[in-house]
Formats: sequence, structure tokens, C-alpha cells
Amino acid sequence: MRLGRIASTSGVAFVKIDDGEVTLPSGQPNPEIRAHEIKDHPFGEPTFTGRSWPLADVRLLAPILASKVICIGKNYADHAAEMGSEAPADPVIFMKPSTTIIGPEAAIVLPPTATEVHYEGELAVVIGRPAKSVSEDKALDVVLGYTCANDVTARDHQSHDVQWTRGKSHDTFCPLGPWIETDLDASDVGIRTALEGAVKQDSRTALLLHDIPKIIAWVSEVMTLLPGDVILTGTPAGVGPIHAGEMVEVTIEGIGTLRNPVANRA
Ligand code: MG
Repeated sequence: MRLGRIASTSGVAFVKIDDGEVTLPSGQPNPEIRAHEIKDHPFGEPTFTGRSWPLADVRLLAPILASKVICIGKNYADHAAEMGSEAPADPVIFMKPSTTIIGPEAAIVLPPTATEVHYEGELAVVIGRPAKSVSEDKALDVVLGYTCANDVTARDHQSHDVQWTRGKSHDTFCPLGPWIETDLDASDVGIRTALEGAVKQDSRTALLLHDIPKIIAWVSEVMTLLPGDVILTGTPAGVGPIHAGEMVEVTIEGIGTLRNPVANRA
């Protein structure tokens, strides 16, 4: 099931989006794909209001409102190597504030104080129920689904400061979407990041140093995870700079493509 959040002329709603190709071979939107309004919230077994819209007539927003975004650093060996570091024995976690979250097609805004801002394509885990000290064998039970994420990073701020908060936390630095796929086995799916159509990162989640159950167990031992919270699982090799006017796309097999333009602050 695809779960999303939309803005329509009637307001903002959580929706279930029909399966199938969103774009026809002609490049036109598929008029058969509709977004069905969910009553209340998307957790558990959703119920529906009966209202629906053609997906092409609404705007997709970030698919979830997270109370927190937890990120795993250096979770692919080839990325740890390109950053000049060892692959850590245990998961290294950091956080992005919820104010970093934006949806598909929304602009990543370059902070005027940063000289080098990078994309980092990542698989995002969306939590579906409150979770504390979850064991690895029960970890997938607390997952609502998966979406695409971009852990946008001001690399110069990250290297200037002793820790990563400033470099990771600028507004718009956590694009999420286009929707949450709830039926995905995310243990070995392709993940690809393209800049201006040129593929820059191309890997598989099977290469995660710490897999999804391990990450959920590790993070939930530290902090209570709430429904809607998001865990970014790390980025593979191939990170690089983005500039105003460019388009960055994160594609994950079985989910879809998250597209975001890059802009200077107005
Ligand atoms: Mg990252």
C-alpha cells in the first residue's frame, strides 16, 4: 500500500494512493491513479472518508509528519571510505530537526552561509507504532513502511564544527517522498541518486553495514520512537555538491522517485 499526504483544493489529507504506474509511457500522468482520503491518520488499518482525487490533480507533500528524524552515519563501507574514515563497529546516530522535512518537488534551499552542500540519497524507515527497546527480531513489527530521503548536508559546516548538527539541520535539508510503501521487503533493494539526470550514487540496501532491524533496535534502546518518526539508514558512495537550478532525484526500487529542485534562498 502507498500512503501519502496531499494538498488539494479541499485542504491537506493523508491518502492511500492506487498501485500502478503514475506516469504513462507518453509522459502524461496516468488518470487511473487516484488518491483516497484516509480518515484521521494512516497508522494501523486505515479507514477512508470516501473522497478521492486523481493523483495528477493534487500536490504530494512530505508523506509523514515526524516528531524526530534520526540518521545513521557511515552505514555503507564505500561511503565511509570516501569520507576518509573507518566503517564504525556500532551504528553512529545523529539527528535532523523536523523543520528540515520537505516533500517532493519542493526546493532544497541553499543556506547563504554554506559553500558546499551535498546530496545523500538514503532509504528512510517510517515508524508505525510507539517503540522502546525493541529487539532485532521484533523490529520490523514497528515499521509502517519505507520512503526515499535525501540527507542534504552542508559539508563545509559539518567539517568546520566539531559535530554535525549545523551541517545537517538547515531548513529543507530532509526531502522525503514521494510516498510510503508499506509492503516492501527493504532488505535488498536498489538505491540510486541522480543529479541533472546523471547517476551519481548506485547501490543496494543489502550493503548496509548495520541492517534495518539492528538500526531500529539500536535507536529504540536510546529513545522512544513515535508513530511517524523517520530513520535515515545512511548513504552509499558518490556524494557530491548541488547548485541552484539543478534537480536531484533519489530512486528506490519498489518505492519510486523523490525529485527536488535546488534553489538559492530568496
Ligand atoms: Mg546521511
